Amino acid sequence: MPALGVEGVILRKFYLRETSYILVVFTKEFGKVKGVIKGVRKPYPQFAGNFEIFARCQLLFYRKKRSAIDLITQCEALEFFLPVRKDIERLTYANYFIELIETAATPYDANEALYRTLVESLRMLAGPSSAKRVGRIFEIKFLGALGLSPSLDKCAACGAPVEEGSPFSVKSGGLLCRGCERRDRSGFRISPGTVNFMRKIQKSELARTSLIKVTREVGKETEEVLKRFLRYHINRPMKSLAFLEQLRRVGIV
Ligand SMILES: [Zn+2]
Repeated sequence: MPALGVEGVILRKFYLRETSYILVVFTKEFGKVKGVIKGVRKPYPQFAGNFEIFARCQLLFYRKKRSAIDLITQCEALEFFLPVRKDIERLTYANYFIELIETAATPYDANEALYRTLVESLRMLAGPSSAKRVGRIFEIKFLGALGLSPSLDKCAACGAPVEEGSPFSVKSGGLLCRGCERRDRSGFRISPGTVNFMRKIQKSELARTSLIKVTREVGKETEEVLKRFLRYHINRPMKSLAFLEQLRRVGIV
């Protein structure tokens, strides 16, 4: 059985016996992979930093055909995103990205666009952009990489052109034309500024999205629209979002 050299971001780790970890890694080459790494805990504390959540790593693993858990023999951190770990809001957003990826990624099913979205968003989160903004950018690119982008250029239900002020339906997956608006009454109005902001992010390279200007109102509305959209289409409560709301309530972020 040949060893497979891969690159990945650690989604989760848990302890297994005295000196081993189980790592869940989102790899560029194979999608989500779960593997045990042995002999790395207490006697070798200098390696501890290599197994931190959301570190980007170089790994060597052996696929175990008869087991859901593979064997990882090497894991070396390439990028640690240190500024993210020093700021509670940025850290919570990074955990949120990891939670969304873990929910959406399938074992042994590579999605390079999704992988790039995660790594580039973590890099942006480690830079000067506001954590909130990176959060919105990640959500839009994440949906795009899964083929779930909200339809903003044409009607989500029939593909007809849409006008300014068209309602947005979470259920149908985007803006609705006049005809479809009558069939799907769940649509709600969103401002042209929010539609434009989301459209621009959908169409820009992720690394360039930090240049797109946005007002506070548009930022807030975009957050609300995406929250409803993700809740409907991903349908899994995110612990990190609940935590972020707690931090906001007590005024920490
Ligand atoms: Zn329509």
